[in-house]
Amino acid sequence: MAKLTFLGAAGCVTGSKYLVEAAGKRLLVDCGIFQGSDDLKDRNWKPLLVDPKTIDYAVLTHAHLDHTGWLPCLVRDGYRGSIFANQATIELTTILLKDSAHLQEEDTARAQRKNWTRHPEPRALYTSDQVEPVLKQLKLMPRSGGFDLSPEFHIDSYDAGHILGSSSLALTFNESGKKTTIIFSGDIGRYNQPILKDPATPPISANLLVCESTYGDREHAAGDPAELLGQVVNRVAKRGGSIIIPAFAIGRTQTFMYYLRQLEDQQRIPRLPVYIDSPMALSATDLYVRHKEDHDLEFSREEADGKGDPLSVHQFHLTRTAEESKAINAVKTPCIIVSASGMASGGRVLHHLAQRLPDSRNAIILAGFQAEGTRGRALQEGAKTISIFGAPVAVNAEVIELGQFSAHAGQSELLRWLTALPAPPKRTFLTHGEPAAAQALQGVIQQKLRWNAAVARYLDTVDLT
Ligand SMILES: [Zn+2]
Repeated sequence: MAKLTFLGAAGCVTGSKYLVEAAGKRLLVDCGIFQGSDDLKDRNWKPLLVDPKTIDYAVLTHAHLDHTGWLPCLVRDGYRGSIFANQATIELTTILLKDSAHLQEEDTARAQRKNWTRHPEPRALYTSDQVEPVLKQLKLMPRSGGFDLSPEFHIDSYDAGHILGSSSLALTFNESGKKTTIIFSGDIGRYNQPILKDPATPPISANLLVCESTYGDREHAAGDPAELLGQVVNRVAKRGGSIIIPAFAIGRTQTFMYYLRQLEDQQRIPRLPVYIDSPMALSATDLYVRHKEDHDLEFSREEADGKGDPLSVHQFHLTRTAEESKAINAVKTPCIIVSASGMASGGRVLHHLAQRLPDSRNAIILAGFQAEGTRGRALQEGAKTISIFGAPVAVNAEVIELGQFSAHAGQSELLRWLTALPAPPKRTFLTHGEPAAAQALQGVIQQKLRWNAAVARYLDTVDLT
C-alpha cells in the first residue's frame, strides 16, 4: 500500500523530509536539518523514523540546508542510494554542506573553549569528513522536464523561482496497476523578482499535493525593494552607522548585491565597502552567474550589456577565514556586512551583531523568514536584549524588516501558484509553515478554492491508494 510520511517541515518551517513508500520501494524527498528552537534542533540528533539503510532513493527540491542539511546524518546512518538533483542544486549543495560542517566545527570549538552551551560536551552534528561520502552519492537529473528516477518512480521538474536550481517536483508511480501522482511544491519563490525566472506551477493533475506555507498567513509589504534599500543605506550612512544583513550566502546575498550595484550605478547611494563574510559566498555568486538556464530575461539582458558584473558592488570585500571576519570589527566607518546565518541562529553574523547591536547608529536588515526560537525572530519582535555567546547584548541598533527581499511567495502568490494547477488535487497537505501560517492558508484554500486541504502533522502517515 502506497504511503507518504511527513518526517519534517510539518508544524514548522525546517527539517523538510518526506518519505514515499510505493511500488515496494522507499523514496525520500528532501533531507533537511531542523533549525530554530532547541526542541526542533534536538530532532537532528535522533534517528530517523525508518532505518536509512532501507531507503532506496532520495531526491532534492533545492539546496537550502533545511532541505539538504541532514544528508550527512542519513548517509552516516547507512543510506547508500543515489541522491538525485539538478546540476545547480548539486553544486550549491556541495558548497552548502561543506560550509555547514565547517561552521559547526567553528561553533563547537568556540563553545568548547568558552563553555557556552547547554550541552556538557558540545560537539558538531557532523564534521567535514562526513560530508565527503554524501557528495559521492549526488546524482544528476535534468533541470526541467520528465525523468525516470528509477524503474518505479518518474519525476517531472519545474522552476520554483526560489533559489538557483529550486524545483517543484511531480512524482508519478504505479501501485497495483493504478497510477498516482504527488506534487511537491518545494519552496515557492516570488513573481517578478530579479535574476531568477518566475515560479512555474506543474501543469499536471495530482492525486495529492504537498505545498509549502511559509507565508501562508500574510503578504509581503509592498514597495520597490531598490527604493527602500536605498533609503536605509542613505539614512544609516549619514549618521555614521553600519548595516548588518543576516543572510545565507545563497539567494538573498545575490539579490542584495544586485540591488546595491544598481543603486550605486544610478548614484542613488554612496559606494560603501560591502563585506560578504562567508567562506562560500564567492562560489555561490559564481554559480548564480554560471547557471544561465535559471536567469530571467531582464538579468540575461543586463549581463550582456557590458556594464560589468551585475552581482558585484564596487567596493566588494570577501572574507574567508575567521580572522578576516573578526578584522571587520575594526571597521568604524559606514559599511555593509552580509553574513550567515540568515536567522542569526549561529554562524559568523553573531559576532557582528554582538559588536554592533549596542550602537544606535547601526541598522540590522531582516529580509528572510525568522523562525520561532531564533535570535532573528527575537529582533523582529522588538527584543531589547538578546543573548549571544552566553552574554546579554543590548539592542540599540535600528531593526528593519524588508520583506520585499523575501525568497518565499506571500499568501496571494501561493494562491496564484495553486490556482494555476490544471485541476484541484484530490488532497492537499500544507507543510513548511508554522502552525498559524499553515492553518491560515488551509482556511483560504478551503474558502476560496473549495479544495480539500489539511495541515500536515509531524510523523503522520497518509495513505496514497
Ligand atoms: Zn528554501
